[in-house]
Amino acid sequence: MTSRTGILLLVSGPSGSGKTTLCRRLSDEDEAHYSISCTTRPPREGEVDGRDYHFLDRDDFQARIKAGEFLEHAEVHGNHYGTLKSEVLDFVSKGRDVVMDIDVQGADQVRSCCDSAIEAALIDLFVMPPSETELRARLTGRGTDAEDVIALRMKNALEEMEHWPKYSYRLLSATREEDYLNFKSLILAERLRVARLK
Ligand code: 5GP
Repeated sequence: MTSRTGILLLVSGPSGSGKTTLCRRLSDEDEAHYSISCTTRPPREGEVDGRDYHFLDRDDFQARIKAGEFLEHAEVHGNHYGTLKSEVLDFVSKGRDVVMDIDVQGADQVRSCCDSAIEAALIDLFVMPPSETELRARLTGRGTDAEDVIALRMKNALEEMEHWPKYSYRLLSATREEDYLNFKSLILAERLRVARLK
């Protein structure tokens, strides 16, 4: 059997685009490893440390920056978020596909990373909500965040959406099932890429 190197699928899009659900489902179906990020944001109801995020206090986060543990990190909505190298590098080198849910600043950092294994593995996708009205409805509908948090996320979402042309792929969100079909098709096609075969 031919072996291949892993894919690093970087997924961005505003809160409410549905990108986290897509990434999670791919991992639940064992198609890829979901890179669990670190954050200084407090857990939302139902979120579990080590499953949804590694929830860290600011001192711990800073210490890990100093220790060079992050592949990238950024401040989003007033909190720090970062991807640990240990969530990505070993998996990709062993031929395991990795999916990362990451904001546009983090995506810029990974794209400009000089590691040749990362460069070879990387593909990036921007998930767009179907319309501004639908985005607002999705942000409000989650029901877990306060009004001022929603307003900040809406403002950030509109700014974040201007970055989509930097990505190789764009998915305009429709229904959950259609979105997942397109999403999975992307990773299935990328597995056929000759440059990944060993
Ligand atoms: P939330 O707080 O809603 O889970 O995530 C807020 C934003 O942070 C989302 O846009 C999400 O993609 C982004 N994010 C999550 N993990 C990371 C990470 O490790 N690095 C970066 N740069 N952004 C992240």
